[in-house]
Amino acid sequence: MTPGLAGLSATRIAAMVRAGEVTAVEATEAALARVGAADSELHAFLEVTRDTALAAARAVDERHARGGDPGPLAGVPMAWKDNLVLADHVASAGSRMLEQYRSPFTATALQRALAAGAIPIGRTNMDEFGMGSSTENSAYGPTRNPWRRDRVPGGSSGGSAAAVAAGMCPLAMGSDTGGSVRQPASLCGVTGLKPTYGRVSRHGLIAYASSLDCVGAFARTAEDLALWLSVVSGIDPADPTSTPAEPGHTRRRQDLRGLRIGVPWELNGPGLDDEIARVTREALATLTELGARVVDVALPHVPHAVPAYYLVATAEASSNLARYDGVRYGLRRGANRCDAMITASRSAGFGPEVQLRILLGTFALSAGYQDEFYRRANDARAQLTADFRAAFAQCDVVWSPTSPVPAFPIGSRTDDPLAMYLCDVLTVPASLAGLPALSQPCGFTRDGMPVGMQWTAPAMQDEELLDIARLFESHTDHHKRSPTP
Ligand code: GLN
Repeated sequence: MTPGLAGLSATRIAAMVRAGEVTAVEATEAALARVGAADSELHAFLEVTRDTALAAARAVDERHARGGDPGPLAGVPMAWKDNLVLADHVASAGSRMLEQYRSPFTATALQRALAAGAIPIGRTNMDEFGMGSSTENSAYGPTRNPWRRDRVPGGSSGGSAAAVAAGMCPLAMGSDTGGSVRQPASLCGVTGLKPTYGRVSRHGLIAYASSLDCVGAFARTAEDLALWLSVVSGIDPADPTSTPAEPGHTRRRQDLRGLRIGVPWELNGPGLDDEIARVTREALATLTELGARVVDVALPHVPHAVPAYYLVATAEASSNLARYDGVRYGLRRGANRCDAMITASRSAGFGPEVQLRILLGTFALSAGYQDEFYRRANDARAQLTADFRAAFAQCDVVWSPTSPVPAFPIGSRTDDPLAMYLCDVLTVPASLAGLPALSQPCGFTRDGMPVGMQWTAPAMQDEELLDIARLFESHTDHHKRSPTP
């Protein structure tokens, strides 16, 4: 059970398809075969869209045969998180509520990847509506970590992370509201990018918390993520928060010499698992050997980040999820009165974590409590954003571990929501500030589980992050290790 063609990078597959060395259909069949062999154990996919994938691959091959440009992602098998909609396909956001929901349109980011020649091989498992850090809140059962089947893959985009880690596809799209791309990337030993808020259109991303939601992606190399970002980013009339494409990355770094790495001790202090602390400290030493310079920076409002995040996110979720009322979308449970129908539909459609968060958010927004909770959370958010601005006066990028812990056993945190929320302590700061952030593999624990480190850059400097990650890869081989099948 070798990954074969499916084990190659997106950049390599696209180059081979464009050069006529392999067809898009062959690349797609290799990925589908790998999914067939590996996914019964992992459950990374909620649906494998074999027919859609092969039809798309044939279309790419035909375009190429006619002399047309097959696109920069020609023939690249790609999975997508189940909260990104594809026309005429189910998009359930990991929820019973949307189990039967078929979208009449395609998400902009997905549309752009497909127009560039990517092949949609299937939708991946996730925590319901993106709420969670382990993919255990999926209504369809958990995904397993390809490195150890008794561990979680992280979440909420755990299916996409596991699909890439297991060599089922070189590229998978996810979404990151408070860490849902970076944290599973870290736990699964792959690279994950959360772009600057607004760089990638949210149109067609099933909303969780709109002021935080970002479409992101997983790959095994930074180069693949750069390719993906160049294809999907840019302004979209359907998303008023989207930003125009940058004039281009003007300065491509040749090496890491002189890079000023800001290390906030608030994100590198107590509370880290010993192995995470050891592995990331070694990575930091490697970075300094490569010529980077460590600068101490302060993010004094970081201790408020998790509470502020859970107030803002639940408040926005309670409003976004009000649309699932049994009338307009999703599941409907019969009852002869309208209010009883809504209650029955929402009780049956939403899982316990989603119901908990709707209650929390509704409470935070209720008259009389707004000042005490929601407004204070927004103040903390503004202060944290100012902290980052001050830090970037002294450094080029902010560095930390991605997750305070390696992948934990399935079931070990499900009874303790607070323990689960604390998984996000290192990732929510960049989300609240709307900044681009990337997680990349930087080593392994003594028992062989991957560890990731996180880079955060000033807004719109996503390419700088990708450049730094690429240079780290060129000197190390952590990203090349893969789980034994
Ligand atoms: N784990 C965080 C949460 O549960 C982040 C999720 C996400 O980024 N979608 O809200």
